[in-house]
Amino acid sequence: MLAITGCSQLLTLRGPARPRIGAELRELGVIENATVLIDGERIVAVGPSNGVKIPAACETMDASGRVVTPGFVDAHTHPVFAGLRAAGFEERGADGEAFDMSARWSGMRATVRRTRAASEQQLFEIARRHAQWFLRCGTTTIEAKSGFGLTVADELKQLKVIRRLDTEGIIRTVPTFFGASEAPDEYRGRPREYTDLVIREMIPKAAAQKLAEYCDVFCEPGVFGILESRQILQAARTAGLGIRMHVDQLSDSNGAALAAEMGAVTADHLECTDSAGIASLCAARVQPVLLPASVYGIRSQNYADARGMIEAELAIVLATDFNPLSPSTPSMPMVISLAANEMRMTPAESITAATVNAAYSLGRGGQIGSIEPGKLADIVIHDCRDYRELAYLFGVEHPVHTLLGGRVVHSR
Ligand SMILES: [Zn+2]
Repeated sequence: MLAITGCSQLLTLRGPARPRIGAELRELGVIENATVLIDGERIVAVGPSNGVKIPAACETMDASGRVVTPGFVDAHTHPVFAGLRAAGFEERGADGEAFDMSARWSGMRATVRRTRAASEQQLFEIARRHAQWFLRCGTTTIEAKSGFGLTVADELKQLKVIRRLDTEGIIRTVPTFFGASEAPDEYRGRPREYTDLVIREMIPKAAAQKLAEYCDVFCEPGVFGILESRQILQAARTAGLGIRMHVDQLSDSNGAALAAEMGAVTADHLECTDSAGIASLCAARVQPVLLPASVYGIRSQNYADARGMIEAELAIVLATDFNPLSPSTPSMPMVISLAANEMRMTPAESITAATVNAAYSLGRGGQIGSIEPGKLADIVIHDCRDYRELAYLFGVEHPVHTLLGGRVVHSR
């Protein structure tokens, strides 16, 4: 057994067994001067230090008056690729260009080429390094998408790497098939044929081999329109996959309405979604996944309407959108800071969106996302005394220890 003692503020995020909406987003269930008791991989007791009985022969970890939170749950990442686009960034910096669709396309081509050329083992080693960045930033679960292979074999290769990160206990992963991220070069001018390949081969194989739980589509004019997106998602549903979508990032193309129509679990990005789109998400109880670091990364100021979504009682989620195509971060504290400053979310709302609400959006709400008896002991000890510092001090590596299922997987 393991006891974490001396937590100045323990953010339990305890509450109803469902995602949080409206004013509930501000309820972190803070216990001051708290202790957490862990048996194996699960939490068995939580409370004020004078109320939790620590058994003899129990290991202890002294949080020394620091803040303790659930591990962050990052519900939108693209972590398996070869070829970060850092060199191109130097040129872009000088001429001040934004990351528009043509920049995305040239980045995609290069990344797809290098990801195809990499072996599964090479990709695994790269992805393991990325996983360590996530752990260092306090993230213990990532939703991880394929989408840089764009052939049947290369998409499955990426999904196998995502599964291996989880089975080897490096980080928890929730796999999403994202073959519909872009039609590859060899299908230029024949997008219909690529959509058919996704529908007829990729989705059935990913589902049959149990390599994906969700299917995602980049729904944007010129990439996959409403019609193609709907067909792909119908195939995903038939194959038993849940639905997540990239929608309304660069234009309002009624992606939010399609997410609602298709019964998507999440609609992600939503930077250009209008109030009618928000209303349709609300009616279908789709969770919005907001990605402020992606807005920053593409040199835009067009942040999603987080306050409008909170007022509409949507169960808002925050995620990093970690990816190689534009400047990017694996850091959920950075995202929390951006959300607080640029989208006017409070620190408490941001933390709820990055933990318990994210867990529910991945179908893991019963297991992770809060510090409650029975849940997995995915816990982070941060080098601060007040949880609001997580949003206030940006660019600081807050986590001192990250625990995954009761095991220390990162310490500094
Ligand atoms: Zn994305």
